[in-house]
Amino acid sequence: MELWQEMLRASVDSGKDLVERFNFDKDLAEKLNTLFHIRINPYYLSLIRYPGDPIWLQCIPDAQELVPDDFPLDPLNEEADSPVPSITHRYPDRVLFLTTSQCSMYCRFCTRKRKVGDSGKISMKFIQTGLDYIAAHTEIRDVILSGGDPLMLTDVMLEKIVSGLRAIPHVEIIRLGTKMPCVLPQRITLKLCKMLKKYHPIYVNTHFNHPWECTTEAKQACEMLADAGIPVGNQAVLMKGVNDDPDVMLELMRKLLFMRVRPYYLYQADITKGANHFRTPVSVGLNIMDKLRGHTSGLAIPAYVIDAPGGGGKIPILPQYVLGRNGNNIILRNYKYDIYQYPDVGEEEKKPEAQLERRYMRKRTKPVRKKVYESQPTRAEVSSK
Ligand code: SF4
Repeated sequence: MELWQEMLRASVDSGKDLVERFNFDKDLAEKLNTLFHIRINPYYLSLIRYPGDPIWLQCIPDAQELVPDDFPLDPLNEEADSPVPSITHRYPDRVLFLTTSQCSMYCRFCTRKRKVGDSGKISMKFIQTGLDYIAAHTEIRDVILSGGDPLMLTDVMLEKIVSGLRAIPHVEIIRLGTKMPCVLPQRITLKLCKMLKKYHPIYVNTHFNHPWECTTEAKQACEMLADAGIPVGNQAVLMKGVNDDPDVMLELMRKLLFMRVRPYYLYQADITKGANHFRTPVSVGLNIMDKLRGHTSGLAIPAYVIDAPGGGGKIPILPQYVLGRNGNNIILRNYKYDIYQYPDVGEEEKKPEAQLERRYMRKRTKPVRKKVYESQPTRAEVSSK
């Protein structure tokens, strides 16, 4: 058994553990345990500095999870875009491929709570179905392995999936969505890296949310991946009490870059059942983005996105930098709120109304067409003339 597997075995993973280790009330601990799985491996547990700190909040269950809400179990409506059990096919050229239900730490804010930890819902028995679906859809260029955490699979199992994907000619890019470099960096071994580098181009997207997670062990794990030629990106989630502070976020982004991890996305927290206590106003995220741009390298700045409820996909949102237009000039402000005018090219003739028309053209197409259609005589009316 490898070290990471032994560490997993020593995890806090039951209501009983909550009572014994953290003095939880027995009833509360059992209710929380029934609601969503508990697993905190010893490495991640060791990062906690005091009760209620940003590490604690992410991994220790909280009574607020039990507060009734009307939020959906599937906030991103992934099931609607799931043609076969293991696949979410939302965007034209890429799919999400769920490979295991297991995680080395169950994050309290997880958006996929309805499935994660449940081997009846994400199972090895669906892997072949997923590979067959991808092979049959030649438009798929990019496959994101997720779960659960695909690095919970053994190297042998993972290689079966990755080599299966690489054997499909139209699959160009394979991405692994894994929290392991952050929550159990011991999982990133030389053996794993050696195996993965046979199947390039491989990318890893990981998930650090707080600078305290950027430890020596995590840095080593990320560097091993980078040394194997695997670009590592980070997808952070904005969460109340964890990282809803510009200084904390700035420190996180700088540390990630130093570990050779490129900040990729900063997600507005999804509207997830039992995780409402993590949500922040969007203005908090915009303020953070405003404090990043210009204050650190552009390489350290992620795209702030809202994953649209109901399955609309990721929508980038930015602080307002374009203030308006003065004839041919665009009026801009920089990170110090100094105002500049940029002379645009070839737009001076167009009236603002004309620009607006063009912007909304796609939205207006449907009703306009419908109206034209409705004004046409029916086939019966035509033949009676
Ligand atoms: S590692 Fe990812 S899938 Fe697993 S519980 Fe955390 S957020 Fe959810």
